Amino acid sequence: MLSNDQFAALKSTGNLPSPRGSALRVIDLCDRGDSTLPEIIAMLNTDPATVGRVLKLANAAIYGRPRPAAALTPDVLMTIGIRSLRQLVLAFSLVGHYRHGRCRPFDYTQFWSRSLAQAVACQWLGVEVKLAPSAEMFTCGLLARIGTLALASIHPEKYGELLKDEAAVDSLTVRERAAFGLTHTELSVAMLADFGLPKLFTEAVATAESPEKADFPLESRTGRILICLVLADRLVSAILGPSQDREAILADILPWAEKLGLNATRVAEISGQMRRDWQEWSRLLEIATNESKEITADEIARVGPAILLKPPPGMDKMSVLVVDDDPTTRALLKKLLTSAGHEVFVAPDGREGFRLATEKKPDLMIVDWSMPEMDGLTLIRTLRGTSLGEHIYIVMLTAHDESERLIDAFEAGADDFIGKPIEPRILQARMIAGLRTVTARRAIETECDLLRANVDDLTTSERKAWDAALTDPLTNLYNRRYAIERLNIAWAAGDRAATLQERPLSVILADLDHFKSVNDLHGHAMGDAVLKQFAEFLRSHSRLPDVTCRIGGEEFLILLPDTSLEGAMLHAERIRNACASEQFEAEGKTLSITVSLGVAERTTAMTDHDDLLKAADNALYAAKRQGRNQVVAAN
Ligand code: GH3
Ligand code: MG
Ligand code: MG
Repeated sequence: MLSNDQFAALKSTGNLPSPRGSALRVIDLCDRGDSTLPEIIAMLNTDPATVGRVLKLANAAIYGRPRPAAALTPDVLMTIGIRSLRQLVLAFSLVGHYRHGRCRPFDYTQFWSRSLAQAVACQWLGVEVKLAPSAEMFTCGLLARIGTLALASIHPEKYGELLKDEAAVDSLTVRERAAFGLTHTELSVAMLADFGLPKLFTEAVATAESPEKADFPLESRTGRILICLVLADRLVSAILGPSQDREAILADILPWAEKLGLNATRVAEISGQMRRDWQEWSRLLEIATNESKEITADEIARVGPAILLKPPPGMDKMSVLVVDDDPTTRALLKKLLTSAGHEVFVAPDGREGFRLATEKKPDLMIVDWSMPEMDGLTLIRTLRGTSLGEHIYIVMLTAHDESERLIDAFEAGADDFIGKPIEPRILQARMIAGLRTVTARRAIETECDLLRANVDDLTTSERKAWDAALTDPLTNLYNRRYAIERLNIAWAAGDRAATLQERPLSVILADLDHFKSVNDLHGHAMGDAVLKQFAEFLRSHSRLPDVTCRIGGEEFLILLPDTSLEGAMLHAERIRNACASEQFEAEGKTLSITVSLGVAERTTAMTDHDDLLKAADNALYAAKRQGRNQVVAAN
């Protein structure tokens, strides 16, 4: 926090934005206990522009006046309230006098345009939840980021450089503190307090940019004003912001709105009123408006709450390392993942990514494909070669022209991929899959420790019996009985989920081609040896949550929990491709074999796991019929 002395020193430089001219005299009158309403009106009337703006506010539907007021009367001032009037006059004076400035990279018009939208949004939200006088909500919204304007006024050169630095890894706030020893938020708070805004507002403004850090309850009055500020910010960003961020921002609207008891329809109505109001105010204050976009209730509801990005109950948060040379993608991912409660690190290239991975030991990494220094494929390969990197869940970011080479990414060791541009909903789904794997990995590690301890206590014969019940003796893969048990567990997880997309389940059924001829040509023992090697091959190609089983003579089942058909197809294709180029050796001979695979994903039409296996079996049959050595998806 900024100390009083620090603020006084800044103020004494005369560079802080402050009200001027007739506004100062009105403010002074309002502050004196003995001024009369006619005196204040007389002073206001010396500045016709301000009169128009005050009237506009007094005539807002919010105040429900029977007839619009045409002139300032004591009655009009009473509806607004003297304190609110004082703040309005002050705010209008700032808008009027700080339209331009010496900090060239600072977009003054954009600043006021956005602030105005924020003001109107806060005003409407404030009315909706009846928190504070409407004019005060307006002023609070308008001046919530005044600290940035102040920094641009105090340090035009240095702040300009800071704003221009698009490649910066640190947030603006961190860079501000490094450069000036204070942040725009701290400055905003100090200025608002100095302007006479109640503590209720300044406390909310202090945490509006990182609401998760609020040390007061969100149900308190300050908490509710904070929610208004955050929600107003999201609405403004969705209406005015660049379209590539829109989905992510929309996804963040409903969770906040619901905290105020607003549903998607009401939020859309408010945003419509706010957008019209913002255009009127822009004309009145002579601020150029840029393009703006309507928000519909459908859009808000469709995108759904961002809380889905959050770990489902019972799962811990993750530490995530984002490696991407594009600052915009880095910032977007960092914002989305941080707001979902994860710990996020970022690196601008593969080399730095590798260094951070070894230092921070993240649970999950999101890695871009093409990057300077070390590209994504090399980074993943290098990591997979280390004992640490073996356990990290890695998601590859792929641009359109790279999607053809996805197999390469999986070959290098990626667990999953996300296409660029990033769609928050897809990211959401992928993160949940990642989380499940990470959580499963942690659980399996603990379970393995426990099992090891338990198994050590068993007698040799007990242990043999225990193994035999669930294991295929030839290959040591799981047997059919275990496969069905695991399939039922995964099926039940899908039943508990709201939608199947949330917990997709796929299976791959693999059958060796013309295996009879291996026996016929080389003998049964050779056949057995090949089966063993194929089992080993499948095991080495499986990912941790996958369950690989031998369910028949030369028939194998792979369960892929939390995997969609798309992912399962890629996995199956990887197995097919690798098998075709593998040399199987036994009894001094080498031979090549191929495998046919049928893939199926659970659909709502299926009643139990038998339906899923049947679908995969039909697909496998089709693969055989179409000439073998291929992958077919169930229709
Ligand atoms: P397709 O491409 O149509 O699958 O042809 P295929 O010859 O693989 O299929 P088919 O089902 O006709 O024959 C499967 C053969 O697999 C029959 C049997 O000789 C062999 N087989 C099954 N289990 C075992 C086993 O445990 N060991 C050995 N060595 N061979 C086995
Ligand atoms: Mg076969
Ligand atoms: Mg067969």
